[in-house]
Amino acid sequence: MPAVKRNSARRDLHRKRIAKDEPACHICGKPIDYSLPHLDPWSFVVDHVKPLAKGGTDTLDNKKAAHRECNSKKRARLVAPIVKRSGSLD
Ligand SMILES: [Zn+2]
Repeated sequence: MPAVKRNSARRDLHRKRIAKDEPACHICGKPIDYSLPHLDPWSFVVDHVKPLAKGGTDTLDNKKAAHRECNSKKRARLVAPIVKRSGSLD
């Protein structure tokens, strides 16, 4: 599907644009080691400041650098009410 390809290209572009200045994590405020492998808990991920699920947009001004760990904690908080209702994420 061409639309998926376009979105993925934009995501890569945004990721590169955000990583270029090597900003600190916008969630905890601590620096990010941009050389860490991408599965490391303290590696760089792009976080949607206002989550897409809450009406946030997939645009550069809604995206900031975060640690993978901080991003997943933020996500856990967001999905917590859903988990409580259904008992599972699956
Ligand atoms: Zn952080």
